[in-house]
Amino acid sequence: MHGRALALAAWSRIRSLRHSLGREIEGLLFPSACPLCGSPLGEESSFCLVCLGRLPSLPITRCRLCARAFPRVRGIGALCLRCRSRRPAFRSATAPTRFRGAARDLVHRFKYGREPWLARPLGVLMAEAVQAEPWQGEIELVVGIPLHWRRARRRGFDQAELLAREIGWCLKVPTIRALIRRRATRPQVTLPREARRRNLEGAFQVRQPTACRERGILLVDDVLTSGATADAAARALRSCGVRRVHLATFAR
Ligand SMILES: [Zn+2]
Ligand SMILES: [Zn+2]
Repeated sequence: MHGRALALAAWSRIRSLRHSLGREIEGLLFPSACPLCGSPLGEESSFCLVCLGRLPSLPITRCRLCARAFPRVRGIGALCLRCRSRRPAFRSATAPTRFRGAARDLVHRFKYGREPWLARPLGVLMAEAVQAEPWQGEIELVVGIPLHWRRARRRGFDQAELLAREIGWCLKVPTIRALIRRRATRPQVTLPREARRRNLEGAFQVRQPTACRERGILLVDDVLTSGATADAAARALRSCGVRRVHLATFAR
């Protein structure tokens, strides 16, 4: 392995260990560094400016509800074909990056590379994306879209839960584990669109309906692809009297 890559890997391991410390204590003990290049950072930043520029952002012309990119320029506020044929149960979606290039690498490292500490820099960017939305004031609770407990146990952590906690901390809004995944659903990518929806029917259950009723909820996941999972989770919340659901993912 390249010397620099070795140093970055060792540093990532230390970051993962320290992830379990309290946020304030951790900030005092360890100076922060960029997750992509390892260069030292000031207290307020989650990435260095060079690497921030390498993260692909969402196009301006995108679906008002699900943030899907439009191939050609359309009016602001337009809906994509999917949202027009079937409205998702969430009102809008936001993400700081597109699921490609450096953003895709980060998601893979976070989920499969056992680097849970990445929840912090990714969560900070997600919180900033939420703060740029006109609906940010409607968020009263943050809820992660949970993995099935068996998968979370295998991975050692639930990535959406970690991101949700981080965003809640940044937005100064409580995070609750309001959802449980009742069934271990088949991986969505292997299924056609209609089958994805059937695969997810009844997959989520709200376990804190009283805490959620009449509230505005920010639903959190790492990546938004077809939107079927987020839709099923939002539907479960809405059926328990949640007033509105917005969605934040790291990548779209
Ligand atoms: Zn960097
Ligand atoms: Zn859409």
